[in-house]
Amino acid sequence: MSNLETDPAEVVCATGTDTASRVEILTAREVPLGGPRAMTVRRTLPQRQRSLIGAWCFADHYGPDDVDATGGMDVAPHPHTGLQTASWLFTGEIEHRDSHGVHAMVRPGELNLMTSGLGICHSEVSTPATTILHGVQLWIALPESARNAPRDFRHYAPPLIDFPGGSGRIFLGSLLGETSPVPTHTPLLGAELTLEPRARVELAVDPTFEHGFLVDTGTLTLDGTDIERGHLGYLGTGLERIELIGGPRPTRVMVLGGTPFGEEIVMWWNFVARTHEQIVEASDQWQGRSERFGRVAGYLGEPQRLPAPPLPNARIKPRTNPPTSAPQ
Ligand code: MN
Repeated sequence: MSNLETDPAEVVCATGTDTASRVEILTAREVPLGGPRAMTVRRTLPQRQRSLIGAWCFADHYGPDDVDATGGMDVAPHPHTGLQTASWLFTGEIEHRDSHGVHAMVRPGELNLMTSGLGICHSEVSTPATTILHGVQLWIALPESARNAPRDFRHYAPPLIDFPGGSGRIFLGSLLGETSPVPTHTPLLGAELTLEPRARVELAVDPTFEHGFLVDTGTLTLDGTDIERGHLGYLGTGLERIELIGGPRPTRVMVLGGTPFGEEIVMWWNFVARTHEQIVEASDQWQGRSERFGRVAGYLGEPQRLPAPPLPNARIKPRTNPPTSAPQ
């Protein structure tokens, strides 16, 4: 997906201060995707409070939307650099086309992971068969060693695993004894878990990871703190076990984890870079139709490509998260 804000805000990260609870709640803000479509997403990353969880640097959550009312998703070709996009659906179907030559369908419970490297562009359109659209769009920042690497695309349909109190799919990294075969450029975890009503589940986690729990349906009590639907509960490094308790109805949650990213990034519109100058260059090259981003074949909508919004007048400030340890 594209960040379609016409005036993307510059988000400056502040060091998190902690309270009695070691869970930090990242509340979602509603962002209209603009254009003729009325689709609105709930964004929990990035925000002032926290820019990254591991290498996860962007989290948009949408639906369940009645496509008849919202028009569904129709995002014209737009560029990315320095990141991976992880598309994950609960309901619906999205047709993906990119300048790596990939034409793929995004379906519920299946990971579609696109790696931009230095530059890629892609389009995303919900299919005519889709009546309800419901999912998340996640971005992963690429470390210095991989951010100029070649384009790539991986599809993976993880098995549904059962555990006492629920079930889930592990699409990146390892959890609950299951490991995804999809390689990552930094240590990462990505999973969808569904808890049975009132279930109490203790997850064994990597203490070098920080974790985010984005609540899709139901309510979650995370390590003693209630997290409402649409919000994200964050826990820092240093934990070996994390307790989840489901609400009165089934609770579905996305788990995003990883080792603190450690590199300062500059993020604007659909670009992740290291300096303001690199952002300006990427924007200019997209506007100039540089081969850096290639071409998408087969997209039939209008416009044929999304223009970059005007660059901010001020220099785009870098963001970083000082590694946060969970207070014991
Ligand atoms: Mn995109």
